[in-house]
Amino acid sequence: MNHLYDVNNIFAKILRSEIPCKKILENNFTLAFSDINPQAPIHILVIPKNSYINFYDFTKNGSIKEHESFWKLVNEVIEHCKLESDGFRIITNSGNNGNQEVPHFHVHLLGGENLGRMIG
Ligand code: AMP
Repeated sequence: MNHLYDVNNIFAKILRSEIPCKKILENNFTLAFSDINPQAPIHILVIPKNSYINFYDFTKNGSIKEHESFWKLVNEVIEHCKLESDGFRIITNSGNNGNQEVPHFHVHLLGGENLGRMIG
């Protein structure tokens, strides 16, 4: 585990079942659940079950199996929510400039309506 990882962040607590989440799908290394404060009709977070701070940490230090499992679950959530044809957006925020609130790597999967321009 990255020594800078905060074991008390909210997603770590969800992974330890200390607080609940609305689970959508999971596999060995990955969990998908609904965002508590949705920014679109469909707003799902996908997170690795192991401890990675952000996208850089996950892509640098995660195993091939974890990477494969992660993107496979993202793909399954897209199908589960029937987003393939109408489209969607995937966002990952990192660090201060990315305005990351929860320091456990996650992607936001957003859809269900036209999401407008990317920023602003
Ligand atoms: P970020 O700014 O990319 O770190 O986004 C963190 C996201 O986590 C926000 O969209 C929050 O609404 C969401 N969030 C915070 N706490 C919870 C929770 N307990 N369950 C589900 N989503 C949460």
